[in-house]
Amino acid sequence: MTEAETFRAELAEFLDGELPRRLGELPPDTAEYWGGRRPELPHRNSKRYCELMAERGLTAPTWPTGYGGGGLDQERAKIVTAELRRRRLPAPLSGFGLTMIGPTLLQFGTEDQKREHLPRIARGEIRWAQGYSEPNAGSDLASLAASARITGDDIVLNGQKVWTSYADKADWMFGIFRTDTGGKKQEGITFLLLDMAQPGVEVRPIKLISGASPFCETFFTDARAHTRDIIHGVGNGWTVAKALLGYERTMIAELFGPGGRGRDAAAGNSLVELARRYLGERDGQIADPVLRDWLARFSMDERCFALTMQRSVDAAKAGHKPGPESAIFKVHGSELHQRRHELMLALRGPQCLGWEGDGFDDAELAQTREWLFSRGITIAGGTSEIQLNIIAKHVLGLPD
Ligand SMILES: Cc1cc2nc3c(=O)[nH]c(=O)nc-3n(C[C@H](O)[C@H](O)[C@H](O)COP(=O)(O)OP(=O)(O)OC[C@H]3O[C@@H](n4cnc5c(N)ncnc54)[C@H](O)[C@@H]3O)c2cc1C
Repeated sequence: MTEAETFRAELAEFLDGELPRRLGELPPDTAEYWGGRRPELPHRNSKRYCELMAERGLTAPTWPTGYGGGGLDQERAKIVTAELRRRRLPAPLSGFGLTMIGPTLLQFGTEDQKREHLPRIARGEIRWAQGYSEPNAGSDLASLAASARITGDDIVLNGQKVWTSYADKADWMFGIFRTDTGGKKQEGITFLLLDMAQPGVEVRPIKLISGASPFCETFFTDARAHTRDIIHGVGNGWTVAKALLGYERTMIAELFGPGGRGRDAAAGNSLVELARRYLGERDGQIADPVLRDWLARFSMDERCFALTMQRSVDAAKAGHKPGPESAIFKVHGSELHQRRHELMLALRGPQCLGWEGDGFDDAELAQTREWLFSRGITIAGGTSEIQLNIIAKHVLGLPD
């Protein structure tokens, strides 16, 4: 047996033996768990599943064991993913802790910061929100105005963030604040972490066209953070913020790209099954030749992207830091996600126009909302136009 085979066999023993014995039931395809102090449980055993997996470092397989990870190399991490998929078990933990601030802390955090925050992320104890955008700072993020004033060991925060996804469910925020108003706008920015459970932080949910929304506005009125939670030093936040966006863009492309665990799971993932169901078959083929052609072309694009994306994810797991090239994945992955929804609408025809009522099943109703939500994926994490600017300037080296 090779070392990898031994690892797979030991993992299988755990997943088929100890795990179900200690966990009890977890139905196939249970939705993912985001952890936190006030966790939402997709299933009553979701938290326990996360904890049991975290005990073995399997919530963050590639992080070092000293920080709550599994210390696994990329090959073994892929085995973990494959073995979970084979059993239709969800990833034990999701969220911005694992995908955004965790890798950023691994890259920029001090030893104390890593030991303080990473194990709590890996155990699913803290749920995180991202405090970047402001009413006057979205694409032009460096124009942000929310202020951080340092007084001794304390930092006093004032101002507003907007579009803060899941801020109403989050425990801690990673965010960028202005510590200096002189000089270039990028220079006076500090990246810090703060506990949101305090009187100076007020979160107001925002409602969207697609119904229930993850968005919130977050207001700071003399809120407090601690200087030990400044990442990479005062005034160096722009460097950290950009690096985190690289992790975020890769995550968005992975999540919403082909085979990703993105939002269209409820709407049915197999386009061919949808086509069969709504269009019927003639001579063993999807009956409508135009939509059949559309489906075939789209599926090829999706497959190509999936393979390219997989190579990038493998490189990231092997320690390669995402650079400006992550913008390419973000643009293409998010646009593919939207094209997938357009195609699903075409396949379902009038059945995809339901908002409520008896004439539509749950998947059809979910799809209407997810199609509307899909419009936002080319905006989140930086719009497509901004990604194209980044690609032009930093990947292709074109002049301004
Ligand atoms: C689903 C979703 C989740 C989000 N979650 C979060 C979150 O958790 N935390 C957070 O901080 N933010 C979050 N955001 C906000 C997101 O980062 C911003 O919406 C995004 O950066 C765009 O900023 P804006 O909305 O201010 O648009 P603007 O910057 O005002 O842009 C408006 C339009 O102008 C275009 N434009 C602007 N500048 C240029 C330029 N230089 N060249 C060409 N075109 C340009 C843009 O592409 C866009 O089409 C989220 C957004 C979405 C949709």
